[in-house]
Amino acid sequence: MRRRIVAGNWKMNGSKDLAKSLVGDVRSEVGSLANGVEVVIIPPALYVADVASLAGVDLKVGVQNVSQWSSGAYTGEVSAEMAADLGCQYVLVGHSERRQLFGETDDVIARKVERILGCGLFAMVCVGETLEERDAGDAEVVVAAQVRKALAAVEPGQWERVVVAYEPVWAIGTGKTATAGDAQAMHAAIRKVLCDMGAPAEEISLLYGGSVKADNAAALFAEPDIDGGLIGGASLVAEDFVSICRSV
Ligand code: PGA
Repeated sequence: MRRRIVAGNWKMNGSKDLAKSLVGDVRSEVGSLANGVEVVIIPPALYVADVASLAGVDLKVGVQNVSQWSSGAYTGEVSAEMAADLGCQYVLVGHSERRQLFGETDDVIARKVERILGCGLFAMVCVGETLEERDAGDAEVVVAAQVRKALAAVEPGQWERVVVAYEPVWAIGTGKTATAGDAQAMHAAIRKVLCDMGAPAEEISLLYGGSVKADNAAALFAEPDIDGGLIGGASLVAEDFVSICRSV
């Protein structure tokens, strides 16, 4: 059975106060859910310690980015080792905002994946096509290449700590969601790529992200290859996020 996961990516939002109230509210609701969903909170790195101290056993904690290096003279960077040290289990890597706004290449992403897995953490690897690529009919080719490159160095015993999040760039923060059918088709294609790479594809959780809301989550999660969601905007409102967690 694949793990069902809902992860909340706060992006560069939040405060100490929000961390306290939001995590408290989510935890009290999610702790009693019987659907076995694994809930991950991914705040800005500065709030990871606060969130980790509030998360208890009901919630997992992640960071949104780590360095491709492990330590040294890299001002402004945080390492996967530090994330592990603070009690994180997950690291988001390859988010389209990192690719587009911070120039992260597939090579850099692959190196980060290596570091994350090398530190015993779970890598939540984001892939997704732009609108131009989709309109040109290249979506599956683009996403397949991203998956192959990001995961090129994964070793046989590490696949169980890989999660792939399919996030079409045109759906992120735009209110436009892929239809459940389109998302399912891409997830099936990603699983096939993983299989071709020699990964235990049937055991790898594939999340959908991009304007997932309380009212569209259930339809997406009902698809056979969609194992949960990566949630941006709706993860900042406890009621909405909890409702999405319930929909898995
Ligand atoms: P969104 O963001 O839910 O606000 O569209 C998703 C993401 O970027 O992970």
